[in-house]
Amino acid sequence: MFGLMVSGILIFLYTNLPDNVVNAITATQPRIVQNLPDVWTWSNSSSGMYSVKDAYNWLLNPAPLNDHVNWKWIWQLNLPANIQFFVWQLIHESIPVRAVLQHRRVCNTDVCPRCAGASENIDHCLFSCPDAARVWNLTGLVFNRNSSQGADTFTWYKNMGKIHGSLFFIALWVIWCGRNEIVFNSHRENTHTSMGKIYSLLKSCEAAFMPPQSVAATPVNPRLVSWSPPMEGTVCLNADGSLIGATSSAGYGGLIRDHNGVFISGFYGAANVRSILFVELMAVLHGLHICWDSGFRRVTCYPDSLQSVNLIRDGVSAHHRAISPFKVCSVH
Ligand SMILES: [Zn+2]
Repeated sequence: MFGLMVSGILIFLYTNLPDNVVNAITATQPRIVQNLPDVWTWSNSSSGMYSVKDAYNWLLNPAPLNDHVNWKWIWQLNLPANIQFFVWQLIHESIPVRAVLQHRRVCNTDVCPRCAGASENIDHCLFSCPDAARVWNLTGLVFNRNSSQGADTFTWYKNMGKIHGSLFFIALWVIWCGRNEIVFNSHRENTHTSMGKIYSLLKSCEAAFMPPQSVAATPVNPRLVSWSPPMEGTVCLNADGSLIGATSSAGYGGLIRDHNGVFISGFYGAANVRSILFVELMAVLHGLHICWDSGFRRVTCYPDSLQSVNLIRDGVSAHHRAISPFKVCSVH
């Protein structure tokens, strides 16, 4: 009876409490002493009186209510402090999505501002809203958020970080920023723009947080390089593709310049494939499409993959797994 009464009150709190905390509170059996006035007591000292020293000791040795004592892993992530804080806030289920704001009486609706098709709780906002789902799809990360419903949010996010690394948290951050762009600037970001931001941030983080010894261990052989302009009337296409570690997340891009080196056009994209050769070919293919559609018929193409150049030039078996982009590249 007491538990039911308390759980009825807890839902009106300003902050949504995690299920394990609500369960611990409702399971508490109060000791009722008849004929005495109610008084405040501090259960973590023998005297029942509150002192700062007792509170400090309590914080150092949290009770089971706060059994995730080690939040340090968040502050040790190779991410900028604003994203670390976002992750901390997210695991505390307090990022200001509409459902949280409505619960706090800050706004009067919880309808998702992006799809208008569901309540914008944290899971919807960052995972199941169609805008968010499209981004996850392109990252190539595979996980089942639904399986964690009701489970331990702290552990789930921590494990995701272990499995997928910074990419997972950066994707969450970019999805959140994209959501805010709609809410505050009425601007819906293209999914490919979001992917560009994700990979750009990932690269920046890798560069910024790479251990100094790795930098020192990298052999540096300086050499002079220069760009050879194509013949007049010919455009130059530089194309490149890359894979992110062992995941199936890949990206490609390139640029097109005239014979004076003046920028004409650029492109980039993401692909959910595991083959670096395939991504390199996608870069070439995409660049050639743009050249063709722009009316350029004389194109000098510089992919950075010797293998793809050789295979395009010399031809491949009709059974090659990347035969379709080869065919188109060869025709061009
Ligand atoms: Zn939505």
